[in-house]
Amino acid sequence: MKKLALHWKIMIGMILGVLFGLLMTSFPQGKELVKDWIEPFGTIFVKMLKLIAVPLILASLIKGISDLRNISKFKSMGIRTIAIYMVTTTLAIGVGLGLVNTFKPGEGISQETVLQLKETYSSDVGIQKKITEAVKQKEASPLQFLVDMVPDNAINAMGNNKLMLQVIFFAMLMGISLILIGEKRAEPLKKFFDSLNEVVLKMVDLIMLTAPYAVFALLATVIVTADDPVILVKLLHYAAVVVMGLLIMIIFYMLAIAFIVKKNPFWVMRQLAPAQLLAFSTSSSAAALPVTMERVEEHIGVDGEVASFVLPIGATINMDGTSLYQAVAAVFILQVLWPEGLYFQNQLTIVLTALLASIGAAAVPGAGMVMLVIVLDSIGFPSDLLPIGLALIFAVDRPLDMMRTTINVTSDATVSMLVAKSFNKLSKPHSKEWDDHYDAVK
Ligand code: ASP
Repeated sequence: MKKLALHWKIMIGMILGVLFGLLMTSFPQGKELVKDWIEPFGTIFVKMLKLIAVPLILASLIKGISDLRNISKFKSMGIRTIAIYMVTTTLAIGVGLGLVNTFKPGEGISQETVLQLKETYSSDVGIQKKITEAVKQKEASPLQFLVDMVPDNAINAMGNNKLMLQVIFFAMLMGISLILIGEKRAEPLKKFFDSLNEVVLKMVDLIMLTAPYAVFALLATVIVTADDPVILVKLLHYAAVVVMGLLIMIIFYMLAIAFIVKKNPFWVMRQLAPAQLLAFSTSSSAAALPVTMERVEEHIGVDGEVASFVLPIGATINMDGTSLYQAVAAVFILQVLWPEGLYFQNQLTIVLTALLASIGAAAVPGAGMVMLVIVLDSIGFPSDLLPIGLALIFAVDRPLDMMRTTINVTSDATVSMLVAKSFNKLSKPHSKEWDDHYDAVK
């Protein structure tokens, strides 16, 4: 019998997880049961993915850059990558603004709903935490992000998943230095990282064996902790605008894949599906990163030199889904609470700040909402209305986070293909299974 493709197994796990979650919400003890006995398996899976992120970035980026053998190639790849990231993100914001101004989801929200949402959520600890975090980020100097990118201790940087950009910085410095000492002297270290890279990719294969079960746990947990469906329905119009924007972005990526990369976009999406489904289930592009790298490199055929550079950077700075969501959410909040702030200049400011905010947003669940506070602040949104503004969108944030993270990952993968195509570094896929070598060692 033909083996069922991984993405189908994951999909079945997700559907069963949703059904199980729904079933459990109808029992009084169901929520506790899921939290005590099911959720830990999802948490373990996410921890395992994060566990391999640092060694993977380190090994593949150092190997990738040193394989380029040429500093000017590295420079032009860097510039091209950042430029394409900026273009796709700006486009996403444009799509978001276009849709939210056309469909005006804020105008259909009654005063009664605003009051209800305000009472339910505005003093919610989750919202307060997001505002405090945003204030902290806002108070920092404008160049703080550059300062934060540079580690003062490489081991510390590797010891903290939040410092991914510092690890990238260290790996780039090391990769460039490896090129500069010349082939012969670089050889031993290159071989070491090459082998480490292979090992970590094998770890991804092993971890992915548990993915169908883990997504069951993750989705069952999302369902039992979801908000009251009645409130969700009231925000349907707003959520639909975000989803429509995200779908437009998917179409855009598929067109780019078909016409620029010249590959069948449906085939590409199928290859990428496990990474997308994990992004959806975990709401974290950082957690999905190892799988995204493995799929893009082994199953789509983007050369390691490109994938190892473009994807880790993309996971941290390129967030099309997040920026689109921020544009829609910001204007939606203005439509409901502060219509006098809805002029053209403010919308232009939203484009700029949403672009910067999506670069600054961490690749973890809910980060987009923290940065939304900064977007709203930049257009002078009254601070006393801020908790109410966030309360308006809080109930649907998790499902939208799942979807925008999927787009974030799809965008990173698409850009890696575009960059690879432009450098002639797209080759035949060479997918490896976890047990390729099993017979020899069992
Ligand atoms: N969860 C998103 C990500 O990891 C960020 C966000 O939009 O909150 O890509």
